[in-house]
Amino acid sequence: MHSMQFNIRISSNCINCIRCVAVCPSHVLVRNSANRMVEVGSLGRCIGCGQCAAVCPTHALHHSAYPTEKIHPFKTEDCPTSESFVL
Ligand code: SF4
Ligand code: SF4
Repeated sequence: MHSMQFNIRISSNCINCIRCVAVCPSHVLVRNSANRMVEVGSLGRCIGCGQCAAVCPTHALHHSAYPTEKIHPFKTEDCPTSESFVL
């Protein structure tokens, strides 16, 4: 299988909110066990979904496949809640 080579950089704008860690389906982004700061772990596992860049509130996470002008951040307040669904 062809695997893409991506690059991810986290700038000093990072506020360590761990949103990118929570959203990444491949566990690429991790917290450093010593200083608890978010960092890039196993980059080879990245599937290039772009969710980490989209969810970052400070534009600190730079993904090579998602330059800033391509990112369309979503507002979590616009997402449906469990109360929105009547079963
Ligand atoms: S692009 Fe997707 S898979 Fe890759 S680090 Fe970001 S959230 Fe994880
Ligand atoms: S989402 Fe952005 S600000 Fe939050 S931990 Fe990740 S890189 Fe840092």
